[in-house]
Amino acid sequence: MVWLIAILLALLVGANAAAQAARADGALTEGSATAGAAADGTAPGAARPGAAPHQGSTPDARLPVIASFSILGDMVREVGGDDIRLSVIVGPMSDAHTFEPTPRDARALGAARVLVINGLGFESWLPRLIEAAGFQGREIVATRGIEPLRLDHGHDGVDPHAWQNLANGVVYVQNIALGLAEADPAHASAYYARADDYIRRLRKADADWRRQLDAVPKERRVLATSHDAFAYFGAAYGIRVLSVVGLSGDAEPSAQSMAKLIQQIRQQSIRALFLEHGSNARLLQQIAAETGVQPGGTLYADTLDRPGHEASTYLGMFHWNTQMVLKAFTLPPSAPTAAQEQAGAAG
Ligand SMILES: [Zn+2]
Repeated sequence: MVWLIAILLALLVGANAAAQAARADGALTEGSATAGAAADGTAPGAARPGAAPHQGSTPDARLPVIASFSILGDMVREVGGDDIRLSVIVGPMSDAHTFEPTPRDARALGAARVLVINGLGFESWLPRLIEAAGFQGREIVATRGIEPLRLDHGHDGVDPHAWQNLANGVVYVQNIALGLAEADPAHASAYYARADDYIRRLRKADADWRRQLDAVPKERRVLATSHDAFAYFGAAYGIRVLSVVGLSGDAEPSAQSMAKLIQQIRQQSIRALFLEHGSNARLLQQIAAETGVQPGGTLYADTLDRPGHEASTYLGMFHWNTQMVLKAFTLPPSAPTAAQEQAGAAG
């Protein structure tokens, strides 16, 4: 029975151009998974390439689009809907800062007609990949028109994490819709309609969370994280953000910057100390031990979670982060504050 299905699949898929395109599209599309299964099932004696004509299936007319990382991928999916065939280079729970492209990524990019990137220096590995792929398609820079926050270190002095402000997320979606509409004018009205609906949801969420965060006394709105990815979040919602490591999730902080952060946490009433998915948990645990402030949980900075988790979408990620932060801000002062007072009195 399994063999019969495998052979039928092989007959349907064959090794025609469509299957090659699907395979070249990387591991993220359902098409490539099907093609792979069929190829594995065709062991000796089964249908060979070219045996089956392209009967019954029309060529995939959807616009092939590739997004650089998971958060952007979700926005592109919202806008593109069924009119695009989407793949994502840096998938869920992977670090886009330290990403190393593979030949498979080059093939996936080479098969795309539109590439959507964050820009602001976020995808430092991209120029090499574009060259390797010989990509000639349209590039959509999602942050176009956004005034970036400045940094005093690294990344050419620009903070790339602009998506951590939902108002910027709206600009991302507008840029994506415009770019897709230009690349695929036949479906322009569908792209704009989906973007309008999505922007409405983003604005509503932004207003809801702003109201909840505004209700927290300003002096409580301080959070500490390991990787410096929440400056836009802080600026948008009136939260002071301290961080140890800097922009890239895996960099080691200097002893000096660790000591400075620990001192700041002790001096200020910091209730919210957060880990981040994909960054160094040990550091924050060390800080927690030295300051008596317990980690409030784990935030999503640069990546979505895998499908099935709440934070598997951009809005879901924002909801998760905001609720975590709100919970930490509104906890009654308890052991951490006592520990801080001791530390303050001792110092
Ligand atoms: Zn980052």
